[in-house]
Amino acid sequence: MANTSSTLAEKKKVLFIMGATGTGKTKLSINLGTQFLSQIINSDKIQVYKGLDIVTNKVPESERCSIPHHMLGIVDDPDYDFTVNDFCKHVLEALDLIIENGHLPIIVGGSNSYLQKLVDSAFCSKYDCCFIWTDVSLPILFQYLDKRVDEMVEEGLVDEIREFFVPGANCEVGIRRAIGVPELNYYFEIENKKDIDKAQKENILQEGIKSIKQNTWKLAENQLSKIHNMVNNLGWKMNKIDSTKVFDALLKGEEDYKHLHQEIVVKPCIEIVNTFLEE
Ligand code: ATP
Repeated sequence: MANTSSTLAEKKKVLFIMGATGTGKTKLSINLGTQFLSQIINSDKIQVYKGLDIVTNKVPESERCSIPHHMLGIVDDPDYDFTVNDFCKHVLEALDLIIENGHLPIIVGGSNSYLQKLVDSAFCSKYDCCFIWTDVSLPILFQYLDKRVDEMVEEGLVDEIREFFVPGANCEVGIRRAIGVPELNYYFEIENKKDIDKAQKENILQEGIKSIKQNTWKLAENQLSKIHNMVNNLGWKMNKIDSTKVFDALLKGEEDYKHLHQEIVVKPCIEIVNTFLEE
């Protein structure tokens, strides 16, 4: 008995923030990162690549509140196949460094099958894990995701993707798998053709943007079903935070969504983490 409890006491704490795309994982990680001495590890397999910062929704340096971030934009080669083994190796290295520094590691991102591979039984015997799942009901999330794509377009999504356009390039490997790249391929192919008029080109671009929205919905649904599987079949004990009201208020343009976010999301999560750290 004594042995077991001393082993448990020595287990290193790791916080996970999971959830479908667009549910506020990144924002929450920064909120918690400013409350606890911590460092953030990205667990989005597309954000590990350098580039496409708008499309992949990487948190800009200016919004990181000086919290060290790991595994963001670390792969230069856009065609490199960043495997699940690469992912686990990098996360484990970062975890050791962060814990040696006495900081709390916060693993944040939506690549759930990579996380599933990471959190195997060997991982759980070494690390004490706390999982926060940011959830938003799908009809509201879909509305928000559409709005987010429109904002990305305003921020320069098309120009950003054009830089990665190579005729005939394989969009099934590396960074070109990012939602947005395959969807705009056809537009970039015809963009400079003289026999296609401006209105037709604009139409093709709008079709591409529509596909980006549809595929982002699909990504969210797939991520959610993977999380349901972790909870229902694999027994992961997650702290689910339902942020639907916050997103509803935001979509309605209500100013108090920020207050709601603080009350419904940030405060309960701070409590969850406090309890976890005291255990
Ligand atoms: P597995 O879960 O087995 O790894 P998967 O490729 O379906 O397979 P997801 O992480 O759900 O895993 O990603 C699905 C696809 O969604 C990716 O291949 C990519 O096209 C796209 N995608 C994922 N994350 C992003 C992102 N941050 N930005 C843009 N597109 C993304």
